[in-house]
This record gives sequence, structure tokens and C-alpha cells, in this order.
Amino acid sequence: MTEWYEWAEAPPADFAVIGDPISHSLSPRMWQAAFSETGLDLRYVALRVPAGKVEPALLHLDGLGYQAVNVTVPLKAEACLACASLEDFARRSAAVNAILLKGRVGRNTDGPGFLDTLSDLPVRGRNVLLLGAGGSARSVALALASEGYNLRVFNRTRVRAEEMVRDLQIDAKVVDAPALLDAHLIVNATSASLTGSPVPVRFEEAAPGTVAYDLVYGDTPFLKSAREHGLLGVDGRALLVAQGARAFAWWLHRDPPRAAMEAGLG
Ligand code: NDP
Repeated sequence: MTEWYEWAEAPPADFAVIGDPISHSLSPRMWQAAFSETGLDLRYVALRVPAGKVEPALLHLDGLGYQAVNVTVPLKAEACLACASLEDFARRSAAVNAILLKGRVGRNTDGPGFLDTLSDLPVRGRNVLLLGAGGSARSVALALASEGYNLRVFNRTRVRAEEMVRDLQIDAKVVDAPALLDAHLIVNATSASLTGSPVPVRFEEAAPGTVAYDLVYGDTPFLKSAREHGLLGVDGRALLVAQGARAFAWWLHRDPPRAAMEAGLG
């Protein structure tokens, strides 16, 4: 469990991750490790910001002298609306996970960060089953589609998946069940793992070599089940480092200390 604060009681600091829930976030540990490694005397904290409160929270943090924030579940779409300008990928995915408070510039480092992590994985083909249609699923879907992957999308609420595919203007098929069929990669971009809920995927139908990737970190029910059926399971730590490294380079204008960030996760 990470130490966290309500946004209205935010302590003096320089950077924060905002979301709800927030106690699971490993971002403060990762960022403090990055600051120690680079000799920067800066503080990064976790703040609970409920849905509907992004705008007042950003105003408050700006007033306290915070420089920038990361945004997590369930605020990535709302954060878009709170930005004065959006970089291209954030605008197209309608999801922001990093905001520079000066000028309220929004960026999405999840999608490009996700692609960074894929290059280290033994994914044998380009067929992907994506679960979810929230802010993170949007950035992953856009990133994969822009690299030419064949996407099928399943979401608990089908209409949200349809909206996502339409809004992103990508070529992806919305499906009624999370059937693996010929998927080489299955990505769980739902927040089900945060509450320990299983996602009804029949891993026994997976082709040999299929990779299961959960954006949530740890030994989630999704990954446990995938590994029990012989799949390679990858949790969200690599993505946390990849998206954080991109935000670090943007905000601090220097190379991110990736190894220290990874080690900081424990
Ligand atoms: P959102 O709240 O925007 O979206 C949540 C998604 O999860 C929706 O598609 C929702 O479906 C689905 N969902 C929620 N509960 C369940 C359930 N019990 N069963 C099935 N589907 C469910 O969240 P985000 O997209 O921002 O984040 C998703 C997850 O990814 C979070 O857990 C977040 O922590 C993680 N993440 C991790 C990162 C990392 O660095 N490792 C980076 C980005 C995200 P519906 O539409 O039906 O409500």
C-alpha cells in the first residue's frame, strides 16, 4: 500500500499521480527512485481525486506549486477535458495520463509506452484480443492499430467498445465474448484485476505461445489463470516504467534512469 492523500489535503510536493482508487499505485516509489538516482531534490506523491474533481484538483495543485501530474483510473478521459492543449496521441485517443500544469498540456505516454514494452516480448504474430474500453484501452488500441496489429475488442459493456472503435477511427472488430481464437497476444486493459475480479477468458483455448498481458501489476487473477494454462504472463510493471520514463524525459528534459525506476518498484 502506498501512502496517499486526499487532493484537498495535498502536501508540499512537485509531482503527483491522481486517481481513485490510488492506494495501489507504485508510481511514488518509482519516481522517488528516479529522483534519487539523478540527484534531484523533488517529491512525488499519490493523491485521491474522485471522478468529477479533476479540474478543481489541478487548480489547487497548480496553486501549491506542483509542476506536473500523472493521471490514472478512472480519470484519463476527464483529464483530457481539463487540458488547454493536447498532444496528438492524447487528442486522438481522448485519454491523458500526463499533464504539465504550466499551460495545462496533456500527453498520453501509455500508448507509446505500451509499444516500447512489446518490443521486449516474444509475441509471435499480429492478432490481438483487447479487453476493455476505458481510457487505457483506448491508448493501447490506438497504439496497436497504428502499428498494423489486427484487433478484436471485448468489453463488458459492448456499446462502449463500439464507441471506442468509432471514435478512434481504427479497423477493429468488436466481439460478444472474449474468445481467444487465433490471438497471439491478449491484453487485459480492464480495471477488473484491481478489485480481484476474474475476466471470463477461456485460456485453455489459447494457441501455444500466446502472451497474456495485464496492465495491472502483480499476480492478478487474469495472469494466474493464464499461467496455469501455460501462457507467458506479463504484468503492468514494465508499462509503468515505460510510460513513466517518457513522462520523466518530457518533464525533466533529461534521460530517464530506467533501471533505477524498475528497481524502485521492488
Ligand atoms: P477506466 O475506468 O477508464 O476503464 C475501466 C475498464 O474496465 C472499462 O472497460 C470497464 O468496463 C472495465 N471493467 C471494470 N471492472 C470490470 C469487471 N469487473 N469486469 C470486466 N470489465 C471491467 O480505467 P483505465 O482504462 O484508465 O484503466 C484500466 C486499468 O489499467 C486500471 O486498472 C489501471 O490501473 C491499469 N493501467 C496500468 C498502467 C500501468 O502503468 N501499469 C497504465 C494504464 C492503466 P465497462 O465499460 O463495462 O465499465
